[in-house]
Amino acid sequence: MRLIDSHCHLNADRFGRDADQVIGAARLAGLERVLVPGWNVASSERALACVDRFGWLDAAVGIHPHDAAKVGDAGWAKVVAWAPDARVVAIGETGLDYDRVFSPIPDQLVNLRRNLALALETGKPAILHCRSAEGRRDAQDALIEELRAAGVGGPAWAAAFGGRPPAVIHSFSGPPDYARAVIDLGLAVSFSGLVFRRGEEASAEAAAIVPAERLLIETDSPFLAPPGAPRSRNEPEWVRVIGAWAATCRGTTPQLMGPALVAAYDRAFPNPRRTA
Ligand SMILES: [Zn+2]
Repeated sequence: MRLIDSHCHLNADRFGRDADQVIGAARLAGLERVLVPGWNVASSERALACVDRFGWLDAAVGIHPHDAAKVGDAGWAKVVAWAPDARVVAIGETGLDYDRVFSPIPDQLVNLRRNLALALETGKPAILHCRSAEGRRDAQDALIEELRAAGVGGPAWAAAFGGRPPAVIHSFSGPPDYARAVIDLGLAVSFSGLVFRRGEEASAEAAAIVPAERLLIETDSPFLAPPGAPRSRNEPEWVRVIGAWAATCRGTTPQLMGPALVAAYDRAFPNPRRTA
C-alpha cells in the first residue's frame, strides 16, 4: 500500500538513537511522505535537521499550545526566520489544548494567532492540535471561532493558498458537526491512533465525510500507538493501521485509497524540493 505519515515526531528524543532503522522500516511499509513537525524552538530546529539527514522527509516549524507560555519573542523570531525555508512545508504544530492546559489559555490563544498569521504570510498551512477534556468540546468551538476571526475561508487566505487547504486538523478529535465546520472552512483533516480510544467513536463518521483530496493519516509518533504498535513508542510504519481503519470508514480498501493519500499530502504540503 502507498502510505503517508502527515505527522511524525522523528525529532523526538525517543528516535535519537535509531532513526535510520525506523525510517527504513517505514519505507518498507510503503511510506512515501513523512512530515516532521516541531512543537517548540529546539524541536523545530531538529525537524530541519531530520530533513538534512533524510532528504525525502518534510519539516514544519511552530509552537504547540503546551509550549505557548514558554516561548518568548526571541524564540518566536527563530521560528519566523525558518518559516520560508524550502525544508519547511507547514507551520506547526500549534493549536489549542484545553484538556491538559500546560500553558494558560490566554497564552495559547496569542500563540495560535501568531502561528496562523505566519501560515497566512508564508502560504504554508498551519498544523492544528485541538483537544478538549473528555466529553467536552470547548477547545474545538474556540478553534473554529479563532479560524473565522483570522479570516480563514476568506479572500486573504484564498489569495495565499489558492485551492489548497490553509490548515490541517492534526489527530482529529471531536463531534461530527465540528468535522463539518472544518471541512467547510477548506481545511484538511488528519486521523491518528487516537481514533481507537474510548470516547473518539465520532471520528469514524468524520473520516467518512472528509473529501478525498483533503484526507490525511498520521501516527503522531512516538505517541498514540494504534492497536498492534508498541505502546512504548509508536513508529511511522504503524500508519498502515490507521490507513486500514480509514479505508473501512470510507467503504474502500487501503490499496485503492493509497494514491489519493499521497496526492492529498502533496496538495496540502507542496514541496519545491520534491518537484524541482
Ligand atoms: Zn504532534
